[in-house]
Formats: sequence, C-alpha cells, structure tokens
Amino acid sequence: MTDKADNAEVRFENLVGQDRVREILSRGITRKRLPHAFLFLGPDGVGKEAAALDLAKTLLCRSDHQRRGQTPEVLPCGKCDSCTQFAKLAHHSLRLIFPLPKPKEGSTDEAAADTYTGAQQKQIEELLAAKANDPYTPLIIPGGQEILIEHVRALRQEFRLTSFSGGWRVVILSQADRLRVEAANAFLKLLEEPPDDVMFILTSSHESRLLSTIVSRCQVLRFQQLPINLIMDELKTRFKANEEKAAYCARLSGGSWHEAVRWLGGDPSAEMQKVVDFLRELVRGDPGVRDNLVDTWAQAGSGEFTNLLVLTSKWLRDVQKYLTSPDEHPELGQDAALVKFARFTAGRDFSAAIEEVENARLDLMRNVQPALVAHRLFLHLWRKLFDSSSATV
Ligand SMILES: [Zn+2]
Repeated sequence: MTDKADNAEVRFENLVGQDRVREILSRGITRKRLPHAFLFLGPDGVGKEAAALDLAKTLLCRSDHQRRGQTPEVLPCGKCDSCTQFAKLAHHSLRLIFPLPKPKEGSTDEAAADTYTGAQQKQIEELLAAKANDPYTPLIIPGGQEILIEHVRALRQEFRLTSFSGGWRVVILSQADRLRVEAANAFLKLLEEPPDDVMFILTSSHESRLLSTIVSRCQVLRFQQLPINLIMDELKTRFKANEEKAAYCARLSGGSWHEAVRWLGGDPSAEMQKVVDFLRELVRGDPGVRDNLVDTWAQAGSGEFTNLLVLTSKWLRDVQKYLTSPDEHPELGQDAALVKFARFTAGRDFSAAIEEVENARLDLMRNVQPALVAHRLFLHLWRKLFDSSSATV
C-alpha cells in the first residue's frame, strides 16, 4: 500500500478560523514532521487552546486504520477509545497544566492535586468539565496565579521513570507566561532534553513575559484576531443564532470567539439599554445622580462591569461613526436614541472619551477598586462629553 499520508484530512473541529495555523499543523501531522514543542501565541479567546487540544487529540487518536498500519482518511477519528477518553480530557497520555492555587501549607507532596481542599478540587473538576465541553473556556481558577513548580517536577519525574511507549504523550502548558523563574527553569530543562515521544504545546497571550530561552526552543505559531464576518457566520452555523444577534455579538467580540459566544449566551441588547440609560442620567451632571451610578456599577461585579464598559465603548464608537460619516452607516441613523445623543454631543472629543473607557477596563483587570474606577470614569466622561464649561466647540 502506498503512503497516503499527504491525503489524510486533519480535522480541527473545535478551532474556529485560523486557516494558516490549520494548514501548518495539518501539513506537519500528515508528513509526520513535527517539532518537539510548539508555542501558540496570540490574543485571548482566538483559539490557541482549542487548536492545542485538537492537535493533541489527533496525535493520540488510535483509529482502526492506524492500528492496521494505514493512514486514516480523517483524523482524529472521534470513535476510537483514545478519542473517547480525550473528549473527557481524561486521556492517560495527556497532561494539561495551568495556573493553580499553591498547595496547602507544609505539604511536600509532589502530586499537588492531592493537597487541595475538597472545595478547590471541585472547582478544578468543574473547570476541566467546562473545558472539555468548550475548549475556548479560559483555564482560570480563583487563587491560581502561577504554574506550580510541583507540577513541572512531577512531569520531569514521570518522564524519567517511563520510557517510550510507541505513541505520543502530549503536554499542554496553558498560559506559559505564568511560569515563575524557578518553574520556568525546571521546564526549560525538559525542553532542552525532550523525551522522544513527547509533544509540548505552550500557549500564551503575553509574549513579552516569556523567557527567551523557552521561546527559542519552540516552533512559534501566531494566532490572529478573527474577522467579524467570520465570527458572525460561525455563530449562525454552530449555534443557529439569528442574523441580527450574531452580527451584534460578533461586533462586540473584538475578534475573540470566546467573547462572541459569551455575549451570545446573554442579552446584549438589554445590557446596551442599561448603558444608554446610564449615559442619559450622566448628562444631567448632578453629583448625587453620579454617586448613585457609581454604586450601581461598582456593585455589579467585575464581569458585569466589564460588559457595561465594552458596551459603552461600542456605543461611543457608533455615535462617533454616525457623526463623522452618517451616510456610510445608515443603520445607526435608524436608532432614535443614538441620533438624539449624537446631536447633543456633536463636536465633542469622542476618541478621548473612548480612551477613558478603555482605561477603566484596564484598571478593572488590574484589580483597582470598582468604585474608584467607576467614579473616575464617570467624571471624565461627563467632562469630555457633556460639561458645557469644557466643551471643545
Ligand atoms: Zn480516534
């Protein structure tokens, strides 16, 4: 039988878009020319881990064809024992490493998993179940600040004790920028002398925080923000979303599939109404009203607060678009509230106002107190958009 390797189709069933990455990985798999370590770089939510999991599943697949020494037509097969185990993220040859809370005080156990409280263990299990269900789920857990040295040591120990088994073993290291010095150096030793059958897949959204010695030992693949139209089409295909909501969520996503799906699960139009109401209140410039708004937003929780900021930013951008080129955006002219707001704020510095909203979002990510963030933001927005004494025209 001739080698059909080049003809095998590699399915990246969970990955959305990223055609270039797909192509490179597929070629590597079918031609059996893969490096020992990949580093997937790119913004949050664009599919780095979805691709890592798809790649791992493909490498670990043991389809009937492969057992007979043939190349299967489609990989991964999705039916073999290996694929079934993988779907639960419970494959014995997969190690999924991500930032976890430090083990209990005084614990010397290398297998840190045994050292967590029941509640923590439950959180970890729930997160992994969510990840198995949706590979775009961020592997973030309360108190999980860094990738633990214990986990890297356990890996080294494991690879020292067990030898080549005939198949791949795959290590996915999520958020590789969260390796602190000691753990990073321990991990580097693994990368320097990789066992023959091990594939490392590192992911990171923060290239500048990675050790250059780690980066240089990996084949780097860059993931891009997804085009809005592609997100819209995929939301319609994969989730049967209607045209209007798909378009809305895609525009809010900032090119992140994870964000798009998150908005799809909520009611962004209703949330947007809250933002419009808020801006109306803010127009009044009454300090008492402003204090009430600060309380409302600050108490909303950081997820909700962030949503409101994303929507505020979108609203301001839309108003700006309508003011600069109304003919190019006829749909905005249909929105009576937007048109009214635009008339009221014409000539104001929208770019500066949008920047203030972005700053507030960054402050929230840096754990600045929500009340302080809201207070500063509202004051700046009011000055930039409504205060007649500081008008630019
Ligand atoms: Zn399979």
